[in-house]
Amino acid sequence: MQLTERINRIEPSATLAVAAEAERYKASGVDVVDFGPGEPDFPTPDHIKRAGITAIEQNCTKYTAVGGIAPLRKAVVEWHAAQFGSRYTPAECVVSVGGKHAIFNAVNVLVQDGDEALIPSPYWVSFPDIVKYAGGRPMFVETRERDGFCVTAAQVEKAIGPRTRLLIVNSPNNPTGAVVSPEEFTRIYEVCARRGIWLLSDECYSHFVYAPSRPFSVASIPGSQPNIVTVGSLSKTFSMTGWRVGYALAPEPVVAAMCKLQSQSTSNPTSIAQYAALGALQGPMDSVATMLAEYARRRELILNGVRAINGVTCPAPQGAFYVFPNFSGALRGIPDTLTLARQLLERAHLAVVPGEAFGAPGHLRFSYATSIERIEEGLRRLQRFFTAAAEA
Ligand code: PLP
Repeated sequence: MQLTERINRIEPSATLAVAAEAERYKASGVDVVDFGPGEPDFPTPDHIKRAGITAIEQNCTKYTAVGGIAPLRKAVVEWHAAQFGSRYTPAECVVSVGGKHAIFNAVNVLVQDGDEALIPSPYWVSFPDIVKYAGGRPMFVETRERDGFCVTAAQVEKAIGPRTRLLIVNSPNNPTGAVVSPEEFTRIYEVCARRGIWLLSDECYSHFVYAPSRPFSVASIPGSQPNIVTVGSLSKTFSMTGWRVGYALAPEPVVAAMCKLQSQSTSNPTSIAQYAALGALQGPMDSVATMLAEYARRRELILNGVRAINGVTCPAPQGAFYVFPNFSGALRGIPDTLTLARQLLERAHLAVVPGEAFGAPGHLRFSYATSIERIEEGLRRLQRFFTAAAEA
């Protein structure tokens, strides 16, 4: 069938493909330990659910303003100011159908045919495809395992060319858990501002950082707001992945253009989800602290577990809920991590995402957004798989 050249530029999300394969196993009755999903295993907090239920009961079930209801835009900028010290106005805020939608719209507003977008690698699976769909060329900036996969201003400066339009930084990072320090982030911002390129900061994991790191937004740098687009999401912070609410904070003309695009595609995010989001941003944040403390326990456990496999190295993630160990010294005849991931699912009933999906062959991504008991069981299976491989 003849489809557009545009749609053929992109691939289905590799992480969603792993999820589908794991689901197939589970549906046939297999007990899969699933390290695949990039979503919190905690329920949405009750007060947020209640806000959604109340919205239905009060008939808040109609179209809303395309870029989100006025109280929510106001709540986003006030929450962001309180959390990070930014100074946006509601006119500089658009609410979208999740953070991914906000990134998609921002890139489509800023990148045109032939433009280049710098993406530190390993990268979140969707960045390159979103850039390609917009007509741009993703240009990868390789980060190093020995630097904890943190991108530096020097690396960015070196990668900028005449066609560079945009840099996308995701800190805390999916898949590596890398957190760019405020000092380095400031230097990266300064390079972008000096060289006249946009900095798109994806802060979807902003609140999941481990001590001594602290939540940080590049938007808190005085004078930075005219040169940056800040994208956030309620998905991870408030355990609201299915509600689909995210936002972008950017200069007014960028927000207006994003709203225009939204007006001709999705229209407003679901009205009910917007009211739930309002409840989240105006309510208590203790669920975030509870989740972070639990993630910190799990991080220790899984880090020790993967490092115990002969030949595996793994920097400690400073944020998010992923470890990204290097298995290239542990492959023992297995050709690559794509095959290793497949074998782990088939033989050990362990779902992980191969590094190839993130531009980093040799690695596997383990999400530890699953219980301590399941992590222990998964690590036992992993150890058994490699013991058997060593004996074979
Ligand atoms: N950015 C990163 C780095 C992510 O990992 C994700 C989701 O996994 C998103 C953005 C988008 O999340 P959502 O669209 O649910 O807000």
